[in-house]
Amino acid sequence: MSKRDYYEVLGASKDASQQDLKKAYRRLAMKYHPDRNPDDQEAVAKFKEAKEAYEVLSDEQKRAAYDQFGHAGVNGQAGGGAGAGGFGGGGFGDIFGDIFGDIFGGGGGRRGPARGADLRYTLELSLEQAVHGCEEKIRVPSWDPCEVCDGSGAKAGEQPVTCPTCAGMGQVRMQQGFFTVQQACPTCHGEGRVIENPCDHCGGQGRVQSTKTLSVKIPAGVDTGDRIRLAGKGEAGMQGAPPGDLYVQVAVRPHNIFTREGENLHVEVPVSFVDASLGGELEVPTLNGQVKLKVPPETQTGKLFRLRGKGVTPVRGGPPGDLLCKVVVETPVKLSSEQKDLLRQFQDSMDKGGERHNPRRTSWFEGVKRFFEGL
Ligand SMILES: [Zn+2]
Ligand SMILES: [Zn+2]
Repeated sequence: MSKRDYYEVLGASKDASQQDLKKAYRRLAMKYHPDRNPDDQEAVAKFKEAKEAYEVLSDEQKRAAYDQFGHAGVNGQAGGGAGAGGFGGGGFGDIFGDIFGDIFGGGGGRRGPARGADLRYTLELSLEQAVHGCEEKIRVPSWDPCEVCDGSGAKAGEQPVTCPTCAGMGQVRMQQGFFTVQQACPTCHGEGRVIENPCDHCGGQGRVQSTKTLSVKIPAGVDTGDRIRLAGKGEAGMQGAPPGDLYVQVAVRPHNIFTREGENLHVEVPVSFVDASLGGELEVPTLNGQVKLKVPPETQTGKLFRLRGKGVTPVRGGPPGDLLCKVVVETPVKLSSEQKDLLRQFQDSMDKGGERHNPRRTSWFEGVKRFFEGL
């Protein structure tokens, strides 16, 4: 079932002020509150819809994410990689899964009493960290029992009461056409108990969001798209069920010198036209310091030199890749008049030498000549 637009739900315009949103939400909450509409499933749904919309739009950060990415920007991150490519990357705001639990009962209904949700965390690394491996501390969301209500979800001094809809059975019989079907109770979501006055602090969930810091060992050689699974480090399970897993998704930031292609690294090395002409030794950076690269005389721009084994050792094993150095001849700039004179003398000497000094230019001119003759 596709979700309605949050603004549409609240009947507010995209540029509505927080004041307007609050008013709109109050009005809907009063109208559809389950206390006023006992046994009305539609009202319950409307109430939850309005609550969810308001919870997102009343938070400027979530509102911005919603405006930009729609529903995908504010939920759908939990649950084993579903909705990949969420917004933000890196912050933990994007990996809270279903952050808006049920106001009714202790939750559990929608997700089932099974294990906790899987979480996904995008971890940004520098190229050096990815290639050499590292240990990173990450902050991930977690749930703590609410201190105010001691986890019960009810307002201080009150206890959850037997659900009036299902009399505590957790199931109701519904007439659908000719059939009578048994369904989870819409009021208590199968819990059998409801909270008449939910705790203000946790909204009746009995738990509050917090964060915990985890240390993650990143093996050497990982690359963008690699995923590290931390079993049992996902969201805590409900009612004592086991927790979900945490998936750490690696995203390597662009490097200002190197680009990576699989196991190989690429680097551009600028060289003066004198060194390129006469040959020489260049200092070339690798991820493990400088190495020397011998460039033969008459090296043309764009020439690739391969330094074997100076690339990346793949995380899944195997020999390291290569470092591919692309030599780029640089035209000198800011020449003094003396240098310009020398270059003119040089050009004169080249012209006397004829075509043999610039074979590429010569053959290019011949190609152009044949082209015009063919017209
Ligand atoms: Zn509470
Ligand atoms: Zn019930």
